[in-house]
Amino acid sequence: MRLYADHNATSPLRPEAREALLLALDAGGNASSVHGEGRAARRVLEDARELLARTLEVRADDVTFTSGATEALHMAMEAARSMGFSPVLVSAVEHDAVWAAAGVLWPQFETIPVSAGAMIDSHWLKERLAQLELGQKPLVIAQGANNETGTIQMLDKIATMARAAGGAMICDGVQMAGKIKSSSFTGLADWLVLSSHKIGGPPGAGALITLPGTPVINQRPGGGQERGARAGTENVPAIAGFAAAAAVACGDEAIDAYQSLTATERNAFELVLVRQVRVELIGQSVRRLANTSCVGMAGWEAARQVMALDLAGASISAGSACSSGKVKTSRVLAASGWVPAITRSAIRASFGWSTVPGDGQRLAELYLTAASRAGVTLHEKV
Ligand code: PLP
Repeated sequence: MRLYADHNATSPLRPEAREALLLALDAGGNASSVHGEGRAARRVLEDARELLARTLEVRADDVTFTSGATEALHMAMEAARSMGFSPVLVSAVEHDAVWAAAGVLWPQFETIPVSAGAMIDSHWLKERLAQLELGQKPLVIAQGANNETGTIQMLDKIATMARAAGGAMICDGVQMAGKIKSSSFTGLADWLVLSSHKIGGPPGAGALITLPGTPVINQRPGGGQERGARAGTENVPAIAGFAAAAAVACGDEAIDAYQSLTATERNAFELVLVRQVRVELIGQSVRRLANTSCVGMAGWEAARQVMALDLAGASISAGSACSSGKVKTSRVLAASGWVPAITRSAIRASFGWSTVPGDGQRLAELYLTAASRAGVTLHEKV
């Protein structure tokens, strides 16, 4: 039995999502067609929008479906760019989906520094916003939770500061959804982005959720799908699966159960490691997601750890999934001030809905066995 501890990369498909996906896939139809099949597909699409909106307690009119978070983030940034915000302040720990696009859209963007726990420096932000020139409208781009360390950012505070300065905010909420209660992150950012495959929905769907009145400006000419906001035939089966996954994952009771299950296993994993070897538990000093553990262990390169664990039957990740396979240090950890010995060795274990009791202990044992098999001399705890 393999042990899957890479939910922050992609969470396995939930049964409820699979059922909704297959139903819509079998039904077929193009949601833009006027015939019976088309109207049925449109109904599935609009039902999914209503369900997602109801689950998150937002307005269905403010939900635009996309192909995933990357596209939704780009749409938000493109809309913000066309509105002329300046300065553009981007947190140093944003995912590449934001970081790389921001560099293209605003070559002069300013970086908001972070603490050792990857926590966005709100004092820096406050001071920067206090220095705005007359007539400047700032844009703040800040994630809700970090994919590598699990750090939960102080969104409320950041959003309040951005608004008080007459600006706006884009929030990458990908890692918060299904992990913390949605009431703590909806209604704050002008543009909020979510991804289906991170909460147990199928890949290929995401959502851009705006505050009432915030524009979504279509940058790609084509069909007038999503009320003109996004051209391209909607992936109705994936969207139906996304909404079904959100309905089971994002309610308050589901979040309580998720946090209790994953924190128990995550803490067990970390406890075994801490007792036996010298590790750096990154983000431990700040509020972090219950499911995520980011462990730095100087002397064992992260990519090798991932391969050794894979051979041993467990799936973890080195930094972000998008960078695994390539041996590069973690930009997030480097920005958080960690030394190369740690940024090169840090791995992430992320538990989730399919985690079972005992997984944390088992993963730690597999990890220590794999290390000793690899001949790695781990620093004994003193
Ligand atoms: N933002 C964060 C924080 C992520 O973890 C990811 C996925 O790794 C993305 C954005 C991109 O999401 P998607 O795969 O839906 O484009």
